[in-house]
Amino acid sequence: MIRRFLYNFFQGRNGMDALAKVCWALTFIFILLSLIPGVTGIIFYFLTMASMVYTMFRILSRNVYKRAEENRRFLERVRPIRQFFADSRVRFSQRKEYKFFKCPTCHTYLRVPRGKGKLQITCRKCGNRFSGKT
Ligand SMILES: [Zn+2]
Repeated sequence: MIRRFLYNFFQGRNGMDALAKVCWALTFIFILLSLIPGVTGIIFYFLTMASMVYTMFRILSRNVYKRAEENRRFLERVRPIRQFFADSRVRFSQRKEYKFFKCPTCHTYLRVPRGKGKLQITCRKCGNRFSGKT
C-alpha cells in the first residue's frame, strides 16, 4: 500500500542523484554549524533551510532532463576529486605488493614492486629519473 503510493509518487521524478546526495550531506553539516552561537549560527541556519529546500526540489523535480544535465555537469566538475579518492583506494589495496612513488617533477604516481631494494626509477610520463627504496 505505502510502497505502491511511494512508487507512484516518485514515478517521473528526479529522485536522489549524486548532486542531491551532496546537497543532503551539506544540509547536515549546515545543521551542525547552525549551532554556533551568534550571527554565524544564524547564517548557517539559513544555509540549512536553503540546501534542504534545494535538495527536496531536486528529488521531487519532474524536469528529469534538466536535473540530469545539472548532475552531469556537477560530476564533471568534481571528477578530479573523485579520481583522487579512487586512485587512493587502489594504492591502498595494492600497498603490500607495490610501493608508490610520486614523480618530483610532474607528480604522477609510479608503481614499483616491493622488496627490490634501492632502485633508479624513470617516470613514464615525463622521463624524469630519481632513486627510491622499495
Ligand atoms: Zn614525471
